[in-house]
Amino acid sequence: MRTVEEYFGENVFNESVMKSRLPKEAYKAVKEAIDHGKRLTPEVAGVIANEMKQWAIEKGATHYTHWFQPLTGITAEKHDSFIAPQDDGKVIMHFSGKELIQGEPDASSFPSGGIRATFEARGYTAWDPTSFAFIKDGVLCIPTAFCSYNGEALDKKTPLLRSMEAINKQALRIMKIFGKDDVTSIRTTVGPEQEYFLVDKKMYDQRKDLIYTGRTLFGALPPKGQQMEDHYFGVIKPRVQAFMKDLNEELWKLGILATTEHNEVAPAQHELAPIFTTTNIAADHNQLTMEIMQKVARKHDLVCLLHEKPFEGVNGSGKHNNWSISTDTGINLLDPGDTPRDNASFLLFLTAVISAVDTYQDLLRLSVASAGNDHRLGANEAPPAIISIFLGSELTEILDSIVEDRPYGSKEKEIMKIGVHVLPRFPKDTTDRNRTSPFAFTGNKFEFRMLGSAASIAMANTVLNAAVAEVLSQFADKLEGASDFESALHDLIKSEISAHKRILFNGNGYDDSWVAEAEKRGLSNYKTLPDAVKHYLDEKNVALLTKHQVYSEVEMNSRHEIFLEKYCKLLNIEYQTMSVMAKQDILPAVSAYSAELASDIAAIESAGGSADFEKETFAEISADMNAANKSLKALNKLIVELDAIDDYEVLADKIKDEMIPAMDALRANCDKLELETAAEYWPFPTYGELLFGVR
Ligand code: ADP
Ligand code: MG
Repeated sequence: MRTVEEYFGENVFNESVMKSRLPKEAYKAVKEAIDHGKRLTPEVAGVIANEMKQWAIEKGATHYTHWFQPLTGITAEKHDSFIAPQDDGKVIMHFSGKELIQGEPDASSFPSGGIRATFEARGYTAWDPTSFAFIKDGVLCIPTAFCSYNGEALDKKTPLLRSMEAINKQALRIMKIFGKDDVTSIRTTVGPEQEYFLVDKKMYDQRKDLIYTGRTLFGALPPKGQQMEDHYFGVIKPRVQAFMKDLNEELWKLGILATTEHNEVAPAQHELAPIFTTTNIAADHNQLTMEIMQKVARKHDLVCLLHEKPFEGVNGSGKHNNWSISTDTGINLLDPGDTPRDNASFLLFLTAVISAVDTYQDLLRLSVASAGNDHRLGANEAPPAIISIFLGSELTEILDSIVEDRPYGSKEKEIMKIGVHVLPRFPKDTTDRNRTSPFAFTGNKFEFRMLGSAASIAMANTVLNAAVAEVLSQFADKLEGASDFESALHDLIKSEISAHKRILFNGNGYDDSWVAEAEKRGLSNYKTLPDAVKHYLDEKNVALLTKHQVYSEVEMNSRHEIFLEKYCKLLNIEYQTMSVMAKQDILPAVSAYSAELASDIAAIESAGGSADFEKETFAEISADMNAANKSLKALNKLIVELDAIDDYEVLADKIKDEMIPAMDALRANCDKLELETAAEYWPFPTYGELLFGVR
């Protein structure tokens, strides 16, 4: 048996492979490209391409693809073989530098949110050398960015890379101010914790809702749900354990640092967390992780559900995005450190995040918005749709003492001066870690917990990076010219914390009183995607993202369109599916049962018995079937009405205000019928079977 050390990263063209296979000069050039964004010459690209091909062929690859992340939110690949025909009827395996660096997939079938209409349909993919090439299913995959010929980003990766560049630039200015001249690059790091459900494939196959929408559109809660709290960190079932073992192996071969696995709160729910890495790589790896989870699940006759809310009334799935900023000299800028100077730098970066999150709450909220996540944010297991920051009582107390110019705690006598005094120690891993906060400081990083389980992490990190970059640039402007650095720094932190204090909240985010309190504080609360998207193009947001060249205005307009388009299309599939399931599966099944009841009643009574149960059930079911039929007709009428609307903005609001309540009504009727109908008549597996069916 091979050990993990032996096969970890074996399918990745990583630095050690490059170092051992590339000529010295080529290796140096590619290292410069990775570390400092230097461009590669065509000659060097040719050398790398050839070696990459050779390596891939040795590993059994026959094709290559530019692997990219279009605005669908999933990854895209088009395989081309290495073969090149020769005069003698044979082939050679060929892969050029040009083919490595640039590809030209037809862009016209990917969402572009109007960019296509205004510009050319063609797009190109460009190699991102910072994310290593890898082999998946016999195909050499080259991570790339995807742009239109006019340079507009048509993907999620390009803006993410730009946002990383923005924060690099501004954070380096701050490093200079602190005299850290040895720092030459700064990167944000992310460790995304991925939640998911596993259900039995045979049961999945019987449910149109799961097949078409990834979530259940009907289903009454079983007597046992998650109330016993016995699943979280519970013993993992053998079938699930076998899946996790295979999954880990597949991920490790791809150099993905999968490290933690456990059962989650809901039955059939699990989590996988990787060790954190550079943000764009974390985003690539998370996309791969989601893909491989689904693939490996199939091998075990399971289906991996990544939807944010596969089951109503049961915990949904999210993706906790652990985020920090690190220098190339190995300093985590959100680590408090031990010296006055490190403490001062920490407080400055902490303040920058607080200020950024408060100022761009709406953008952050939108960055995690999706039709699926609408079910989760604000429901009782998930963070509310209101963004607030948890710092913990100790750190909050320190900031308060700075703002109020008073000594910290009871023991200190002196007022703390930033950059002069050492920060009082505060526990890194406090036990009161607040699980309800959407944005929590956890000792040396922030954990943004609102991300949905199915979504790419790219946009949330793009916005976060850009917002913090902007605040850092303002800070640098103020501090660069300061004559007395220490007091300028002190004043800056003091005034910024005073101005953005409203975003700090250590209490229970699931409590109803928080909603009222947040409103008083003027915090935004956008419960749905259509609500949040209305603020995407607000002046301050456009100013932020265009100033730091993260998106152009054209790109923002296109994303605005795509948000709404995707929402409407997904909901359209959902309500069509509901209509079909109610009409073709549920009502016919209940009708058959009630027909049997009717004949039973006649038979029992003619035999002289009393058919009380049958009669009562029959009456109950008749009434509820009528109600369901009415709800179905109302839903169908709305479908026709919505079909006539072309404007996605209007449509999204209509869906939110009218269609979703109609869907809820039909569901309530049908879920009631489920509980009244004999089990053998029910047309598809129930919640109980799905949630407890994997043993
Ligand atoms: P938990 O939050 O469950 O207690 P940890 O604190 O160990 O677990 O980490 C959770 C996730 O945060 C892991 O993916 C981990 O790699 C990641 N993480 C830890 N440090 C950093 C950092 N500096 N930057 C980004 N992510 C980090
Ligand atoms: Mg966590």
